[in-house]
Amino acid sequence: MTLQGKVAIVTGGSRGIGKEIALTLVRAGAAVAINYHREAGAAEEVLKKIEEEKGKGLLVQADVTVLAECEKMVRTTLDHFGRIDILVNNAGIRRDTLLALMKEDDWDIVLDTNLKGMFNCCKAVLKPLLKQKSGGRIINISSIAGLVGNSGQTNYAAAKGGVIAFTKSLAKELGKRAITVNAIAPGFIETEMTEDLPAAVKEKVLSHVALERYGKPEEVAEVVLFLAQGAGYLTGTVLSIDGGLSL
Ligand code: NAP
Repeated sequence: MTLQGKVAIVTGGSRGIGKEIALTLVRAGAAVAINYHREAGAAEEVLKKIEEEKGKGLLVQADVTVLAECEKMVRTTLDHFGRIDILVNNAGIRRDTLLALMKEDDWDIVLDTNLKGMFNCCKAVLKPLLKQKSGGRIINISSIAGLVGNSGQTNYAAAKGGVIAFTKSLAKELGKRAITVNAIAPGFIETEMTEDLPAAVKEKVLSHVALERYGKPEEVAEVVLFLAQGAGYLTGTVLSIDGGLSL
């Protein structure tokens, strides 16, 4: 139980990768505030599972695109658990289409959720984290698209590339406070986000994956755990978890 006594916030923890991150951190002993946006039922299922396993969880509804809601999420977490040590910025969406067909809304909502959402949560968490003076961990979920780009994802890739640049800059700002800031760039992970992609797209992706299979949310979560529980001299880096897709 390496994270005993630590408190984490996981955004977008109601399903997919975020759900597995929340469960993994709880199993390592952390108390976890599970943020969700619309899927209250799914989030309640996550909390039920945590409570069945005698872990400590808390549901916090908030839209990460709104700073005031992120600030409220942090206050609620502090009121309930008394401190915050780890922030995992996982909430994300995609609205894929070629740039020629992309609507302004498709750009705005993806940038607001995937990039500004991370800014909002980091902003909200920073004051209590600095006040505690006991270091901390910020882990941002980027994407392979943010490293190598992807046709049909100019909005998503721009946001995820921004996550990486933000991560490196914040790592420089917070190093002297022993707060590490790292990014994870998953490849193709089997979740609701990827399940409705056309079969031809999935097959094409798979043909480039060295490990010849898609990734599982648990495989992202175990790297989050690695960053959350130790890795004290690792900051400002991007860990690709893509089965070799980006090679
Ligand atoms: P997912 O299954 O679609 O889940 C997305 C999560 O984000 C949900 O919990 C959703 O909450 C939450 N969310 C969306 N908009 C939000 C908002 N405005 N405020 C708060 N929460 C919000 O996605 P996933 O595949 O697990 O992806 C998780 C992260 O990994 C994302 O950042 C994604 O870009 C990244 N990623 C995924 C893959 C992949 O292959 N799956 C690859 C690379 C990177 P509600 O359900 O409550 O609405």
